[in-house]
Amino acid sequence: MADANCTVGVDLGGTKMIVSIVDSDGRVLTEEETSTGSSTEPEAAIRTIVTTVERMRAASGVAPHSLGIGIAGQVDGRDVVRFAPNLRWRDVAIGPPLSKALGIPARVINDVRAATFGEWRFGKGRGESDLVCLRIGTGVGGGIVSGNRLLVGASNAAGELGHMTVVTGGRKCTCPNSGCLEAYVGGWAIAARAVEAAHTSPTAAAASLERARRAGTELDAEVVSEMAKEGDPFARGIMDETRTHLAAGLVAIANALNPRLIVAGGGVIRGTGSLFEEAFELARPRILPSISADLRGVRAELGTNAVAVGAAAWAHQEAGTWPAT
Ligand SMILES: [Zn+2]
Repeated sequence: MADANCTVGVDLGGTKMIVSIVDSDGRVLTEEETSTGSSTEPEAAIRTIVTTVERMRAASGVAPHSLGIGIAGQVDGRDVVRFAPNLRWRDVAIGPPLSKALGIPARVINDVRAATFGEWRFGKGRGESDLVCLRIGTGVGGGIVSGNRLLVGASNAAGELGHMTVVTGGRKCTCPNSGCLEAYVGGWAIAARAVEAAHTSPTAAAASLERARRAGTELDAEVVSEMAKEGDPFARGIMDETRTHLAAGLVAIANALNPRLIVAGGGVIRGTGSLFEEAFELARPRILPSISADLRGVRAELGTNAVAVGAAAWAHQEAGTWPAT
């Protein structure tokens, strides 16, 4: 039998699911990505997780001792998903039925917090006591490790870094606030800003609109980023503004939390060239010197399976099965 000190990590999203078996050094022993299909009912999701884990157990000969499941949404304690808009779930106790079906403890964790945990234990944050993970995809999420503890907050929702105000009275966000970091740098927001700017200045935006048309897509963050890299003035304007707002967010994050590392990940970070590094350099001189002196901005090491690997890391934590050091 392969390393028995391993756990299952699950990333359950609105359209796909990743199931990984991960050992206590962060090695992914086996992994499967499946579509969640049209049905995201809890019973169907539980059935898919159970059959996938059973198949992987049989094929690999590995017997994981616990399971962690990362879900985009508000999670209460270890068992209950309070609200997951992508899955349209409210008050779903997913832990107990998974535990019962698989015969191992199963715990649920917010997806970005799982990714943060994974980056801390298995990725760029390994050995660090103070770090912040900032994930910029369609939305913007975060996770905070401070003094060797993953911060959870009073209602288990700490780390919503995308909803820090960076522009007073600014753009409407998806949350009740306006002027949030997400409302400027989230993938949806970059696209919305570009579309609005193109509406105002269609001539300036002509090349970007043509690129989007040829790609068979809307004017989105990817198209704008590509056009900016090619030097298109319209797209560069959008990305310059994105960088400015991201820098404002980084200053606030650094000053509030005094991390040693800001670890950036997510689709927008991966797809926008050196946007993060440029924003970090813009931010650095504006951060309090006592905080900026030892601060580094780095890319996340875990990739598209960060949530699954992080949920597996968290399952190790919950089970107390880290290797002796
Ligand atoms: Zn917001």
